[in-house]
Amino acid sequence: MLDRLQRPLRDLRISVTDRCNFRCSYCMPKEVFDKQYAFLPQSSLLSFEEIARIAALFVAHGVAKIRLTGGEPLLRRDLDRLVAQLARLRTVANEPVDLTLTTNGSLLAKKAEALKAAGLGRVTVSLDALDDAVFRRMNDADFPVVDVLHGIDAAERAGFAPIKVNMVVKRGINDHEIVPMARHFRGRNVALRFIEYMDVGATNGWRMDEVVPSAEVVATLDAEFGLERLPVVTTGETAERWRYADASVAGEIGTISSVTQAFCGDCNRARLSTEGKLFLCLFASRGHDLRGLLRGGASDAEISAAIGLVWRNRDDRYSQLRSSGLTAPASGERRVEMHYIGG
Ligand code: SAM
Repeated sequence: MLDRLQRPLRDLRISVTDRCNFRCSYCMPKEVFDKQYAFLPQSSLLSFEEIARIAALFVAHGVAKIRLTGGEPLLRRDLDRLVAQLARLRTVANEPVDLTLTTNGSLLAKKAEALKAAGLGRVTVSLDALDDAVFRRMNDADFPVVDVLHGIDAAERAGFAPIKVNMVVKRGINDHEIVPMARHFRGRNVALRFIEYMDVGATNGWRMDEVVPSAEVVATLDAEFGLERLPVVTTGETAERWRYADASVAGEIGTISSVTQAFCGDCNRARLSTEGKLFLCLFASRGHDLRGLLRGGASDAEISAAIGLVWRNRDDRYSQLRSSGLTAPASGERRVEMHYIGG
């Protein structure tokens, strides 16, 4: 199934909660997401059974990879139950679905083993600094870095390999942590990925001068350690990858350059929001309601047809249009927030 720009649907990101225990300023700034903020009521959230039913329909449409995200997905109680249901899915090629999770790592030490046992395939941990003071300032919840590092260790012990670690780089805030992060994870079976700070949502006050282009990150690391470019393995891959020039050293470096090198051309991702809306782009303003169909008694065939119709009409390519000035949402609309749509 191809969209209007001939892109297939392969990757589904599911936000299982809009809540998070961190308040990273680039994602859920404290001033906006405070005690008064109205998060979704429990009854609005898709149940695990509803998520699993929709996910199976996406897989029948060609999805081969599912990422659980949020918000902070490990805040959703008994997430391993959902993992177990999704782990049973088979792709159209009759292979297990590539089932993965993105987490801030705060609860990973407690939950890594149960997630592995339930059938989770891979884990990505977000970590923006090694320095405790910098990390606490970035998560703005006074959360210590050592607990996330313990979470990563626990995930390794549980058998997740390789683990991905994602660092969002903001100029003047944590760019001095690029080399220490690489030094820390070098030699381990960890893919450390540097993400350009993006203009997602409408609350983070994004400015281009706070973006550190990936090319700069790579130049810094190349000068320090020596890097060699790795080939692309799958189309639609968001990261460009490098290994250490010293081939005896384990570890990988990746860069995700949604700002300086838009990768809309082969974007094969759809996103299912916490309350069951289908979004076709991280920068979208509007989603397509699937929960209404689910709860209104629609059959699998009807929901599947609705998903097909939405995908075939898709022509989103926000990042490519960003520099052309054509990306402002229509008046009265706001870009949806990342914690709701799923990062
Ligand atoms: N709570 C989980 C976590 O921290 O990984 C999952 C959700 S979070 C929205 C997913 C990823 O999006 C994290 O790696 C986070 O750093 C990244 N992210 C959020 N806002 C971003 C922004 N403005 N630019 C770049 N990455 C961002």
